[in-house]
Amino acid sequence: MSGTFGNPEIIDIDTDILIVGGGMAACGAAFEAKRWSGDDMKITLVDKAALDRSGAVAMGLSAINTYLGDNNPEDYCRMVSADLMGITRDDLVFDVGRHVDDSVELFEEWGLPIWKDKETEGVALRDGGKPVRSGKWQIMINGEGYKTIVAEAAKKALGIENIIERCFIVKYLLDQNEENRISGAVGLSVREHKLFVFKANAILNVCGGCVNIFRPRSNGEGNGRTWYPVWNAGSTYAMAAEVGAELTMMENRFVPARFKDGYGPVGAWFLLFKSKATNGFGEDYVVKNADMLADYAPYDKAAVVPTCLRNHAMLKEMIEGRGPIMMHTDVAMAKLAETMTPKEIKHLEAEAWEDFLDMCIGQAGVWAGMNIRPEEKPSELMPTEPYLLGSHSGCCGIWVSGPEDIAPAEWQWGYNRMTTVKGLFTAGDGVGASGHKFSSGSHAEGRIAGKTMVKFVKDNAGFTPALKGDIPAIAEEIYLPVRNYLEHKDKTTDEDVNPHYITPAMFQKRLQKYMDEYVAGVSTYYHTNAKMLEVGLQHLTWLKEDSANLRAKDLHELMRAWENYHRLWAAEAHLRHIMFREETRYPGFFYRTDFMALNEAEWKCFVNSRHDPATGEWEMKKVPHIDLVEKHYDGQAH
Ligand code: AMP
Repeated sequence: MSGTFGNPEIIDIDTDILIVGGGMAACGAAFEAKRWSGDDMKITLVDKAALDRSGAVAMGLSAINTYLGDNNPEDYCRMVSADLMGITRDDLVFDVGRHVDDSVELFEEWGLPIWKDKETEGVALRDGGKPVRSGKWQIMINGEGYKTIVAEAAKKALGIENIIERCFIVKYLLDQNEENRISGAVGLSVREHKLFVFKANAILNVCGGCVNIFRPRSNGEGNGRTWYPVWNAGSTYAMAAEVGAELTMMENRFVPARFKDGYGPVGAWFLLFKSKATNGFGEDYVVKNADMLADYAPYDKAAVVPTCLRNHAMLKEMIEGRGPIMMHTDVAMAKLAETMTPKEIKHLEAEAWEDFLDMCIGQAGVWAGMNIRPEEKPSELMPTEPYLLGSHSGCCGIWVSGPEDIAPAEWQWGYNRMTTVKGLFTAGDGVGASGHKFSSGSHAEGRIAGKTMVKFVKDNAGFTPALKGDIPAIAEEIYLPVRNYLEHKDKTTDEDVNPHYITPAMFQKRLQKYMDEYVAGVSTYYHTNAKMLEVGLQHLTWLKEDSANLRAKDLHELMRAWENYHRLWAAEAHLRHIMFREETRYPGFFYRTDFMALNEAEWKCFVNSRHDPATGEWEMKKVPHIDLVEKHYDGQAH
């Protein structure tokens, strides 16, 4: 950036629907909204990256984890609820369950190769082809190009002229005439000196989950290696909270157990290859610690042990010094090979590598670098740093209106997947209290939102957005980090070390240190208590004050500055929710050491929060939970 710095060029864009994000949910919404709107509406999609490879599916996937097939949506609700310790919205989960297969079948029509069993080789799912299932809900794919295929359909639907890439949305704007009504968004180009100001009737907020708020296990030359994509900066939660949308279950997090250091997926190994994991002494820790899991009844009796409880059993071994945890790929492959021809064995070995090459190439690099052949040697597993998300085995997010035909009255206020801010919708990682959507469910949920947004815009055709806030002042605020840099950069010999400003990278490290040490990160083995949280909150409050001193030496770093500001908001919401919920609902994901037990009587409820944009205050509350599908956690009826 040059020594002189003028105001950015302002680009005004008026649109009926604005989709913010470019992942699976965004692509689903683009495709479906266009189907229902025809040419009557302007639909614009804005993505900070490039649609072809943005979102959590960017690198590709080796499986689609939600395809119901012969299962029914009621059972899907039961599975999701059990895995997330009983507190999920059956209306939202059911809605994804009844629509998700259509998305998967579309992916196949668009060119995604889906593995089939021998009898139906070459037959499409829609024509009765039987997928190779790795588990009851999961199917195997050749998915290196998964995202490019799904993005292509979205691009085709909207038209390339309605897609703006390399534009980072910093904040949403409310309407100045109508209370609690969305009316636009402001974002910076990360390539040109331009500020985009959007006016919209409805906005879909789908910027993924939140990564890198906790100090990661990967450091030094491994820094930047994470399980979920590093570019998921919590924008979904932060921007919604800033305009006063109610959040739900932000205390929930996901701590995936992964192949150590490369973060390779374990699902195919556990489910498809039937591999076993043990402690360092060869003991199956889930079997060994079954009695301990009974402390968290009734969920220990679920047909599949909930993900957090599997971690809980693993962590006990690690904390008590019986690590390392090993995945016995060698034993599993030897067993599978017993009935195979040499050619089939070669194929199996190729599949083992392909599982990583399709979705997590770095893990294949770790294997190669460590001379690991999975058929010869076991590999180490490790629980990762925590992630915030609403689509995988986690359920934090935004509180949304449910489907008209299923949601009880208190869970619907008009439009399916609309947040508590009128006109602001979300899907995928954005929708709270309904995890286990994965890639396909997020696409399906984007389609659900896209369809209702078209209806919303039709019903609100008379609305003329009037942005609340002074745009030149907002432009000043957004570019403040650049001014901080230009004003002070020559005051020290090293421009990265300067008492007048903080680099986005250092800001992120500070946030990660606080979250790690006080809010149940890896350094305390995920333990915290009210006193630690109080100290953590004080640090976050000071860090927020210090955000006015962020610096940006170029547009890329300006995006980094605002990403980390979003991370800070998401982190604060997470902390406040953990502080409020006085129990240990998700052992293995985190522990409140002052309330180590599950407390069904007092805490089998949602926790919702709202930041009031007028006063800056946070309000926390309990919201009653209702089971819409009968639940049995006694091992039957699954
Ligand atoms: P992952 O590869 O860990 O992202 O998981 C892929 C799918 O497998 C998800 O649906 C997980 O819930 C499921 N999964 C992973 N590990 C296990 C396990 N040990 N038991 C049951 N389900 C699992």
